[in-house]
Amino acid sequence: MLKILFLSTSVGSLGSGQGGGVELTIQNLAQEFRRRGHQLEVVAPEGSWLNNIPVTTITGNLQVPVQTQSREVPICLPDNSVLANMWDYARRVQHKYDLLVNFAFDWLPFYLTPFIETTIAHFISMGSMTVASDRIMQQIIQQYPGTFGVYTQSQADTFPFAADCEILSSAIDLSLYQFNNTPEASLAWLGRIAPEKALEDAVAAVNITGIPLKIFGKIQDQDYWEQICRDFPDAPIDYQGFLSTEKLQQELGKCRALLMTPRWIEAFGNVAIEALACGVPIIAYRRGGPSEIVKDGQTGWLVEPDSISGLVEAINQIDQIERQLCRQQAEEQYSLEALGDRFEAWFKKLVINN
Ligand code: UDP
Repeated sequence: MLKILFLSTSVGSLGSGQGGGVELTIQNLAQEFRRRGHQLEVVAPEGSWLNNIPVTTITGNLQVPVQTQSREVPICLPDNSVLANMWDYARRVQHKYDLLVNFAFDWLPFYLTPFIETTIAHFISMGSMTVASDRIMQQIIQQYPGTFGVYTQSQADTFPFAADCEILSSAIDLSLYQFNNTPEASLAWLGRIAPEKALEDAVAAVNITGIPLKIFGKIQDQDYWEQICRDFPDAPIDYQGFLSTEKLQQELGKCRALLMTPRWIEAFGNVAIEALACGVPIIAYRRGGPSEIVKDGQTGWLVEPDSISGLVEAINQIDQIERQLCRQQAEEQYSLEALGDRFEAWFKKLVINN
């Protein structure tokens, strides 16, 4: 039995959607590690909640998501930083634990690593973002080899220390997602509404095909969203809000396909495996995480990055994909048990070696 402390991202409270896919990853790992009988505490910003898992909440001001800033941005913490307060808490309780697990991308937890006695595993949820974070990560991984985990190889490849990352992939609780074999005509787009996700490309594609697009997710950048609405006043789009997993899987399952059009190198794309679990094929740019998930021609189509005509062509061929194969892929590759095995092996190695 391991005693583990999870430290959440500090860009938003768990359950808000601000943290993106890492929120789901924390939920899933916490659930799976408790099921396996490990002792686990989750620390997260005030207002956080997880399904059936208690959370220790910490007050303070949130970090600004680093992906909204330039690569040269200086290291920045707000007054009464929740990130700093969470790590102050971690410092005080560290001796109760075998391992601390950092889920924040920010500079501070990396910098603090040598000052904390308990071993820290860093789960890195995005690709390379800033010069300052690359530098501190590089320094820490040299001093503490084996302590960095990432979602995918494409994500690791954005860092100078790609070869030293543990590739852990992602997973979902398949019992929460129902297979739907009788979809309606609509397509889906799902995720944080922010420039790196390039929702405008999906909207441009349905503006051509005329097939309705249901949009689900947190509007993280209101100006960006309004600009899309202005640029495509007649596009057949319908914004459905940010939904709970239960509601989301119901609505997503009714859709003909999921469009994934990120401009950045998506570290994973948890929405992809949620779609597969519902039997929804994926049309994604051939870049980043989705290109490692989608089986081209079997569980979706991979499209030349940034090509609207490529998206349109794939939409027109979506009926060639068997929805049953999508669910099957989710079951074979993305179960919580498989994820638990990988993380458990990684954590045990760290605890034994340190
Ligand atoms: N999501 C949700 N409800 C919604 C839309 C999105 O819960 O209405 C969640 C989705 O389940 C996924 C996350 O938002 O876990 C998006 O994560 P992803 O890994 O795709 O991208 P990220 O935001 O981390 O870049």
